Amino acid sequence: MAKHPVPKRRASATRGNRRYSTWKRGELKRLNNLTKTVACPKCQQPRRPHTTCLICGYYRGRVVIDFAKKDEKKVQKVKV
Ligand SMILES: [Zn+2]
Repeated sequence: MAKHPVPKRRASATRGNRRYSTWKRGELKRLNNLTKTVACPKCQQPRRPHTTCLICGYYRGRVVIDFAKKDEKKVQKVKV
């Protein structure tokens, strides 16, 4: 007897094609979602949905990333 799992029956071309088409549809949907962007309500620049805008640092109407503060810190580090 075989010591590893062996398919009981040969998978038909139809079965394989059906599996591939289902997989491809999901994969295309996933790729489409990865590249999807929405306009930032503050600066109108494209950003990923449900994420902080990396240009103005706003998310849902408030500052999440303060770029001005970050720049100050960088300048201080460079001086020291
Ligand atoms: Zn923005």
